[in-house]
Amino acid sequence: MRFEIVTIFPEFFTSIFENGILRRALAEGLVSVGVHDLRAFTHDRHRTVDDRPFGGGEGMVLKPEPLAEALASLGIQPKAERLAGEKLDSGSVLCQGTTSVVPEKLPIERGALALEGNSTKQTSHQRTRVILLSAQGRPFTQAMARELAATERVVLVCGRYEGVDERINQLYCDMELSIGDYVLSGGELAAAVVVDATMRLLPGVLGNEASSEFESFGVADAEIASAEDGVPRSQHGAGGLLDYPHYTRPAEFGGLRVPETLLNGDHAGIRRWRREQQLRKTLANRPDLLEGAALSKEDHKLLEAIRLKLE
Ligand code: SAM
Repeated sequence: MRFEIVTIFPEFFTSIFENGILRRALAEGLVSVGVHDLRAFTHDRHRTVDDRPFGGGEGMVLKPEPLAEALASLGIQPKAERLAGEKLDSGSVLCQGTTSVVPEKLPIERGALALEGNSTKQTSHQRTRVILLSAQGRPFTQAMARELAATERVVLVCGRYEGVDERINQLYCDMELSIGDYVLSGGELAAAVVVDATMRLLPGVLGNEASSEFESFGVADAEIASAEDGVPRSQHGAGGLLDYPHYTRPAEFGGLRVPETLLNGDHAGIRRWRREQQLRKTLANRPDLLEGAALSKEDHKLLEAIRLKLE
């Protein structure tokens, strides 16, 4: 998989790609990233990337021409051209424009995509997603990270100032993504978040292939082939819930002892305790997630008991 990041601050990404899992994934060629300086696509002495907003108001807006040139240099044509002649899977929803699209399942086609250094011959819209980072975007979630991880190339356009000229969004971007309900000063942090969350889902990137399925927002047990092997590793399908609390040595710290259940080797007991903790945490911190979570009858009973205790 390849990420292309278009930014006015390419140096922002240096330390991000030089540490931890990202660094290893890059070194091992499991993922590749191209960071593209927007100013390289300007033609004036001042390398101008912004201009004042039509209609007045504060701040500046990223001009469309350098962005369009940067995208063209990556082989990204306007959406209309990319889509022309393409047959869409029936039932799949293709992101078009900005707010009217619902890519519950992004339409992803498999096939050849010729990548040669930075020059990409794009043969299908579905294999490349062009994303505008924006506070006005749809929320970036683990489910979306999973979808992106199945895409061959993700192009991330980082806004700055008051944002990006809307025509770039309309003409080139498959979707706008927001990493949360707050306003950042630029899309770079958001792009780094998208790269990190997506890249760690790629095969071979995490030491344990399965671990991403078992953490917060992970998939349900039913979707995990090896779920019922009886061993309560950190692996217990989250089914859309938050993760349970984790402990390591020493068994006592700051006057608090690790819950006895985790110390006695009773696998079934540990599993039950962890599930209950997941439900507790989710109820306390993100009750909204319970609606979409994959809950068993037993889970519902546990939840009821937790709620009763809280009353
Ligand atoms: N005027 C914009 C608004 O009110 O929505 C905010 C612009 S912000 C100062 C500059 C850039 O930061 C945006 O163009 C976008 O690329 C990025 N950005 C800000 N908040 C973001 C968020 N929550 N998620 C993703 N990108 C964000």
